[in-house]
Amino acid sequence: MSQENNIIEVWNAVLEDLQKHVSESTYSTWILPLEPQYFDENCFVLHTGQAFASNLLRKNHYTEMSQAVKKATGRDLEVKILFDEELSKKISKKSKSKTVSQDSSEPQKPKYDSLTQMQSSNLNLKYKFENFVVGSNNKLAYVAAQTVAQKPGTKYNPLYIYGGPGLGKTHIMQAIGHYIIKNRSDLKVLFISAEEFVNDVVNALARGDEKTKKMNSFRKKYREVDVLLIDDIQLIAGKTRTEEEVFNTFNTLHGAGKQIVITSDRTPKEIPSLSDRLISRFEWGLMADIQIPDIETRMAILSNLAQDSAIEVPKNIIEFLATIYANNIRELEGAFNRVTAYASINEMPLTLDNVKKIINYNEKEKSYTFDGIVDEVASYYNISTKEIKGSGRSAKVSEARQVSIYLCRELTKQSFPAIGEYFEKKHTTILYSYDKIKDELRINKALSHTVESVINQICK
Ligand code: ADP
Ligand code: MG
Repeated sequence: MSQENNIIEVWNAVLEDLQKHVSESTYSTWILPLEPQYFDENCFVLHTGQAFASNLLRKNHYTEMSQAVKKATGRDLEVKILFDEELSKKISKKSKSKTVSQDSSEPQKPKYDSLTQMQSSNLNLKYKFENFVVGSNNKLAYVAAQTVAQKPGTKYNPLYIYGGPGLGKTHIMQAIGHYIIKNRSDLKVLFISAEEFVNDVVNALARGDEKTKKMNSFRKKYREVDVLLIDDIQLIAGKTRTEEEVFNTFNTLHGAGKQIVITSDRTPKEIPSLSDRLISRFEWGLMADIQIPDIETRMAILSNLAQDSAIEVPKNIIEFLATIYANNIRELEGAFNRVTAYASINEMPLTLDNVKKIINYNEKEKSYTFDGIVDEVASYYNISTKEIKGSGRSAKVSEARQVSIYLCRELTKQSFPAIGEYFEKKHTTILYSYDKIKDELRINKALSHTVESVINQICK
């Protein structure tokens, strides 16, 4: 087998091994986004689009990484992590890596070939309103989704739901689909990931005799539905033909009073290079964001899972997991599932010590929270967290604030509005600060050093 074919396989083995040896947050923030390039007799080369990943991983996790590479390749190779500018640009557009299939809680990519089949199999049965825990973080999106489900095509059109990864966007969007299928069997519902939409456009445009026929059937598929649910729309950015088809589909459906629901990891304006006409259409209806759930909501989500679980899960375990997995419900659920599965297979009592072992919890490496990040930045600059969150404009305080904002975005991948809410600043201010630091980092060595030191402290 050539190494090109092989590298993904090897990298997946490395990932599997690393997952056991580094903390969940290190794994998902720094390791999972790496892109394997090639390996030879001497080295194993990875690319990163994150400015600090290389130094950070080399300093803190080189041993684990080289051992995992050794296990997977049978050789002692130098692990090289190189910064890749292109990847850095791409990274914000792309929310999933090649290894996404490892994430078993992610719904399967829908595969269907007829509308009827789609209606029955395309939606994940778990993603219903009944299983959705409502908290202050998702209340607006929930209420809007219910309204849309009860009266599709009449209010909020489109409904645009956005927020960070693993916060329930796909769940709530599919809940709308389930509700409509159940209560309005006369309506055709189509759930599609934007990625699938892109593939459909590419196929329809492929050269060949059947081109017109293919385009017609493509248009028919999308324009004859009553409710179109498009997941992760940010993935169409920069794909001109796809954008055009989204635009045409949108106009046809909207004009005919059909319901459109869109999800994204960010607002339309934040999707790089999205055309103005699409931005304005996406903003026509209601934009509802989903933020990080508070601790009570996280505990409620786990309590629901615990009720369905085969074993008794003590309250202190629920509280512990809900405390350390603060930013992403997918990860929270993943940890819960690992813990309950492992404990029941091995007939282990669910004590705090056992749970820490199962999730490979390292006291020092907690998942990144806004508070934790601001604390570290404050102590680095030797100012108070209050100053960072305040509105003082001295050079030092402003820089500390902008660095905090930059790191909140980089480390938690939360939306700019969510970060804005935390800092009590307008979302455009947050965007400005983030871009400013990002640009500065390319040219300003001192700032780069500062940010790196703070990250090292946070990840210590
Ligand atoms: P996103 O699409 O925002 O990345 P998902 O919708 O895939 O996130 O949600 C990730 C996981 O978390 C899913 O298993 C989903 O069921 C669960 N989840 C998210 N929000 C909630 C909630 N409010 N109540 C119950 N489960 C939730
Ligand atoms: Mg999703």
